[in-house]
Amino acid sequence: MDFNLSGKTAVVTGGARGIGRAVCLVLAEEGANVGILDLGIEGAEETARMIREKSGKALAVKVDLADYESVDTAFGKVVSEFGPVDVMVYVAAITDNMATIKKMELTKWKREIAVNLSGAFYSIKQVCNSMIERKWGRLIFVSSRAGLDGGFGQCSYSSSKMGLIALAKTAAWELARMGITSNVVFPGLVNTPATQSLPKDVMQRIVAKNTMGRLQEPEELAYTIAYLASEQSKGINGAEIMVNMGPQKFAFNLMNLPGDELAFQ
Ligand code: NAD
Repeated sequence: MDFNLSGKTAVVTGGARGIGRAVCLVLAEEGANVGILDLGIEGAEETARMIREKSGKALAVKVDLADYESVDTAFGKVVSEFGPVDVMVYVAAITDNMATIKKMELTKWKREIAVNLSGAFYSIKQVCNSMIERKWGRLIFVSSRAGLDGGFGQCSYSSSKMGLIALAKTAAWELARMGITSNVVFPGLVNTPATQSLPKDVMQRIVAKNTMGRLQEPEELAYTIAYLASEQSKGINGAEIMVNMGPQKFAFNLMNLPGDELAFQ
């Protein structure tokens, strides 16, 4: 593919593993210089090494996306190395904080909203001024089906992911006439370290309900995101893009059978 990202600066949050790593690798393949922001610096370094092995340019930076100062420092390091950010992809999230509303701990709720949603707001703040000045930019957010439907045992996750959709669409409204697009991508169930830790029966149930009857590979998301990062996608703005293998409306609810609630009692 040629999405012609040569010389562009891309920042990918959550690039230490899973979907984020695949996004980093594909953007680098397409010529972008990639800032890999993650709390897991070892994984981020490994992604950077994989990019450099193929003669790409990458910088791994440790960040806590819940903390504005940390986000500010991390973006600053990428800009010093590669110049102003053209493409910002927000992939990072806490994905394993499951409890019913009744059981959810306040600190865990706050942390998840801070990482999954506030961090995205902080990241837009970091890049929007220079994108406006240069009249070009791409903002891409990875949400989840739970952000549309809610999810049993997923109160903070689904709320943060729905908030992310609203944030992305607000950016789409506000920045559209400045050459900047903002879009949201929705995966199906993707084969990543996060999903590998799901109970086998839950995994089998979701796959069985899925239209294609399989797990997705992270690259399937990454190629869509690379297209959204390109000039060719300039007419797509404020879109909700399903990259989830089919129209399975409720198939992605992790705990949706009668009796599942017992798991949380
Ligand atoms: P993952 O858990 O493998 O990766 C998430 C990354 O975010 C990790 O590298 C982690 O270190 C990083 N991160 C977490 N907290 C952070 C913080 N405070 N600061 C910086 N980095 C932090 O997840 P994944 O399975 O690759 O999913 C990636 C994205 O796709 C997430 O937004 C997830 O909600 C979404 N998604 C995934 C699936 C799936 O099936 N895997 C389905 C729907 C949506």
